[in-house]
Amino acid sequence: MELTGNNYPRFNVFESRSSSPALWRINMKQVKDYYLLHGFAVLVLASLLGCATQAPHATSVTYLGNCGFLYANEKDKVLVDPFGTEYGNFFHLPSSNTLSQVNRSRPPFDGIDLLLITHIHGDHYTPSLVEEFLKNNSNTRAVLPPQVLKDMQKKCGDFTKISAQIISPELKMNESRKLRVNDVELTVVRMQHGARRDISKVPSSEYTEYEKTENYGYIFTIGKKKVFHQGDGCLKLNEEVINAIGDVDFGHLSFFDWDVTSFDILKNKLHANWVIFMHGTIPGEEFKREAFKETYPKLIKFEKELDCKDFRERLAL
Ligand SMILES: [Zn+2]
Repeated sequence: MELTGNNYPRFNVFESRSSSPALWRINMKQVKDYYLLHGFAVLVLASLLGCATQAPHATSVTYLGNCGFLYANEKDKVLVDPFGTEYGNFFHLPSSNTLSQVNRSRPPFDGIDLLLITHIHGDHYTPSLVEEFLKNNSNTRAVLPPQVLKDMQKKCGDFTKISAQIISPELKMNESRKLRVNDVELTVVRMQHGARRDISKVPSSEYTEYEKTENYGYIFTIGKKKVFHQGDGCLKLNEEVINAIGDVDFGHLSFFDWDVTSFDILKNKLHANWVIFMHGTIPGEEFKREAFKETYPKLIKFEKELDCKDFRERLAL
């Protein structure tokens, strides 16, 4: 089906917590009376709970910055790439306040079941922050590529204290592994990191240093909804992986895929109901591409860090 302005599904089934229409229907007199009665305790509680005050049966997505997202329902919480600290002059990285909220397990970052790291690049991963997080959250399990594991073994002073929490499957290009970790169903798949050429048929001995980056994509289930996060995997260069994924509910359009072709892969091949924009640039490089201007209005955008949206049901396409 060709997607046009008329038949493209409207995103009226998700709500942004920060702009709930119900809130605006309360008149100012009611607001004044309410706070006189309850003082500022309500405000303080609301700010502390944040996305923890989740609507029943919804899957919530909280944006941290760059490719960092928290996906949650009443039962499970999965955190992907929350610790980017490099290339902040070009990408919208999480602020130090957000990083500290994550590492101090402030709601909604409490009780994380799974921490997923897609690859070693500094805008997605910082070893000391992963180490600190796992030390503070002994029930959390982390899944990450062997390249990241080796980097952590080298750089983390207390690695032995967290090693049992880490799962790091060795995968060849296009290979995948199904896991069940902390009760979350997960498929880990090795994808080619965005690059100038397709290396799916190139022997690994001929990869350049950059092409040797082990980029893991993750497909996992939260409630009954399937999330696909590709890290820096380019959708156009990973045809074999894409063909094997099946339908998903959430997909992401990212740095290496700012065009209609990639959007169509998510929409028409993976049948993603919600396509979320990630990995935007500060100078707005994406908007210099004509092909992206057409795609951008169709994406779900998070305006600022820690914004949270609830997604309730799948729309019929
Ligand atoms: Zn990267």
